[in-house]
Amino acid sequence: MSKRRRMEDRYRRFSFLSDIEGIKNAIGEMRGMCLPPQPALNREAHLSDNNPLPDEEWFIRTIKDKIANHPDNQMEYPFGGEPIFEEPLVGFVRGNDPIFDQFKKVIGPHHFSPWEIMRWQAEKNKVKPPDPDDLSVVSFVMPFTEKTRRDNAAAVEWTSERWAQTRLLGEIFSQTFVREIVTDLMRRGILAVAPDVTPMFNKKRYPQVGWASPWSHRHVAYAAGLGTFGMHDFLITEKGVTHRLGSFVVNLRLEPNCKRPEDIHADCLHYQGHPCLKCAKRCPVTAITAEHFHDKETCYQKVANSLKHCNTHYHIFIYGCGLCATGVPCASEIPKQLKRNTIHESPSA
Ligand code: SF4
Ligand code: SF4
Repeated sequence: MSKRRRMEDRYRRFSFLSDIEGIKNAIGEMRGMCLPPQPALNREAHLSDNNPLPDEEWFIRTIKDKIANHPDNQMEYPFGGEPIFEEPLVGFVRGNDPIFDQFKKVIGPHHFSPWEIMRWQAEKNKVKPPDPDDLSVVSFVMPFTEKTRRDNAAAVEWTSERWAQTRLLGEIFSQTFVREIVTDLMRRGILAVAPDVTPMFNKKRYPQVGWASPWSHRHVAYAAGLGTFGMHDFLITEKGVTHRLGSFVVNLRLEPNCKRPEDIHADCLHYQGHPCLKCAKRCPVTAITAEHFHDKETCYQKVANSLKHCNTHYHIFIYGCGLCATGVPCASEIPKQLKRNTIHESPSA
């Protein structure tokens, strides 16, 4: 049976039974269950001409290459042949940046510092945990396609099928290629870890902040200077808010390549005193208001309810919404009135 025919069959049958990847992905968010084992550190590896130290350019090039050429960056039926993501943005933040101490206050003490997650990886490999000064975090932004943005901008009540499929397949793809990079680094003798593909990653409801994970790709991307927060709490980047974010920690000193604004809302029209609140108008459950900003609990209820919609209508096991992220001035760029130079001059950043 051809690959396309198999996809068609899977799409038409009972997704609760057949969308194993979706179910595994959902379970993986809880204590990393169903994830493949961590790669082992090659303690025999030595730096040489054949095994040079990866630098910032290497990470930017490798991530861009993976997204441009990886066979898993592909939508499935009925969007077969389309890419999930377009060209990414890549940024770096040092592991000893004081912002990680602030995250413990702002997000909560459950949020890992780069050193805490690296200590876990080091102890697992029976080596001494590196000094925080010798760690960096690599952060990346993978923009959704124009078609995905367009479909969701046309939706008024529930997320579009392209958006739902992008969320599910995009998350699986992101974890796959990050695991490939981490495995490559560990083979070269360089400690590396992607927090969201370890058993340490345990998404749950915390008393003060509601549903949260112990590693926020969004906050890490802000720390790396890749964007700032909007009224909807999504990260407004040079490529807008319709994206998936990822990050991983490495035992290398990488230089930050983007300037981080002090103002965490530097790119949101409403926060900067311009008339907008288009995101609030797009929200079908009034979870965004000028008075109360983004009501996470109301939003969470709507997003959770979308699981049934996606399963019934799109036959995949995923939840999502993102209506407030599309059909708005920050959907695919920093709003024109607030444009600034976020990325330093670099041949491939
Ligand atoms: S739609 Fe307007 S108010 Fe809402 S996050 Fe984007 S820029 Fe800010
Ligand atoms: S994600 Fe959906 S429910 Fe949540 S604020 Fe945006 S539009 Fe509203």
